[in-house]
Amino acid sequence: METSFNFIGGDLSLDFCNTADGDINSGEWDDWIADYPALLGWAQDAGLLPPERAAALHEQADIHPAEAAQVMEFAHALRLALFELFSATADERTPSENAVTTFNDYLQSALSHLRIMSSAPGQFGWRWADETDLAAPLWPIVWAASQLLTSERVGLVRQCSGKDCSWLFLDTSRNHSRRWCDMKGCGNRAKAHRHYQRSKV
Ligand SMILES: [Zn+2]
Repeated sequence: METSFNFIGGDLSLDFCNTADGDINSGEWDDWIADYPALLGWAQDAGLLPPERAAALHEQADIHPAEAAQVMEFAHALRLALFELFSATADERTPSENAVTTFNDYLQSALSHLRIMSSAPGQFGWRWADETDLAAPLWPIVWAASQLLTSERVGLVRQCSGKDCSWLFLDTSRNHSRRWCDMKGCGNRAKAHRHYQRSKV
């Protein structure tokens, strides 16, 4: 399947934040996960859901539209909380207490569905229970965020310098100098703008 989303964040939780395209603080942005089917499409492209599970959740959402709408309310609040946690980190400021509390609520709820499984003698792995729960696609995102936030990698979280762009990414470049979410998009636009400014004078 051809993907219609961008996955430039370097971490699932950052890519989830980047489903708001534009300047999230100005309210001028497009929402790529505006409704439940869009969330499923994104989760599938992110590798969180095999097609048959996505189809089953789609069916469930059609039967229980109010529940699906509530999951989308959670999804959008989670995204906003994560955006605050990560953009605060990128700006080297303390995040709002509200974002920490909101995230912890989601973490508690997600972890209640996390199980270990024996994958081979002497080997264990994680798995998610309650796969048919409409909120299930959000749990791995919460888990990924909790891992990133508490790891050293969180120091590599940056926010794109592009005008009207709030995207977040892990700067894994060798000298930690990456400024743009995507050289083809924001980086090029900025370069073209600088060129235009220079050629104007
Ligand atoms: Zn950008």
